[in-house]
Amino acid sequence: MEQIMTRPEPRILTVIDSFRITPNMHRITLGGAGLAGFPQGQSGGYVKLMLSGPQDGKATVRTYTIRHQSESTIDVDFALHGAHEESGPATRWATNAQAGDLVKVGGPGAAKPLPDGPGPFLLVGDMTALPAMSVNLEALPEDATGNIIILIRDTADKQDLIKPEGVTVQWLVDADLGANPSLLSDAVREVPAIDTLAYAWAACEFEAMKLLRQYLRVEHGFGSERLYISSYWKRGLIEDEHKQVKRIDAEAIS
Ligand SMILES: Cc1cc2nc3c(=O)[nH]c(=O)nc-3n(C[C@H](O)[C@H](O)[C@H](O)COP(=O)(O)OP(=O)(O)OC[C@H]3O[C@@H](n4cnc5c(N)ncnc54)[C@H](O)[C@@H]3O)c2cc1C
Repeated sequence: MEQIMTRPEPRILTVIDSFRITPNMHRITLGGAGLAGFPQGQSGGYVKLMLSGPQDGKATVRTYTIRHQSESTIDVDFALHGAHEESGPATRWATNAQAGDLVKVGGPGAAKPLPDGPGPFLLVGDMTALPAMSVNLEALPEDATGNIIILIRDTADKQDLIKPEGVTVQWLVDADLGANPSLLSDAVREVPAIDTLAYAWAACEFEAMKLLRQYLRVEHGFGSERLYISSYWKRGLIEDEHKQVKRIDAEAIS
């Protein structure tokens, strides 16, 4: 029998806390009565923020990872846009949010975890994927090995990651996130014995993702059983436009 999947109804959540965790990462803790019934175990999954539009009442929808979940709250970390700070409604909303504010939230959507086992793993991404990568790192077994490569906007954006000792962290810094798409793939090209990796996980800006995909999928033959790769945003495009480009790209490579 065909199973009909229904999307969970959006809920109205309350801002419990709003603070900067590093200079370019802002955390919003959401909770309140609207969170009742939200499934547990959703860290690493995503939610859709539905922000009210300026005039026409149409919601502006933006996608964010659940960085932590407690019994009564979820944390969402917003990577700030630097020179483009004022351009994004979600980022603007987050940096202006105050305890008690209400926001409409859809989801959760499914997390993209790493497969079981000790790896070796490669995790690569920019600040927008740091929440998802952090969740995946925290879930690794103690004997896991691998490399994590993270692009941040400032050295002060480094975070203390909870990870197995055998996973090496490399921080790359670029104040203009997305301006130099080859930074992540250049660093990945330096990772030794790439063909021995059990699994690679990557999420970042669209052009940077394409360069990573070229290296991992085309040059080294990583298939979907050994690779999760996604673009989380595209420089110069708002989320809705990025989604369209992503759809066309997915059709072109399938
Ligand atoms: C599954 C998934 C999970 C995600 N999780 C997170 C998360 O946990 N934290 C997070 O910060 N982002 C996350 N993102 C990315 C986030 O949805 C986009 O960055 C989104 O475009 C931000 O919305 P906005 O309203 O601030 O900007 P938009 O209105 O979408 O864009 C405005 C302008 O800002 C630019 N821009 C967008 N994002 C950035 C950026 N990070 N740096 C510089 N310029 C940017 C755009 O290119 C555009 O020119 C996730 C995306 C996906 C698909």
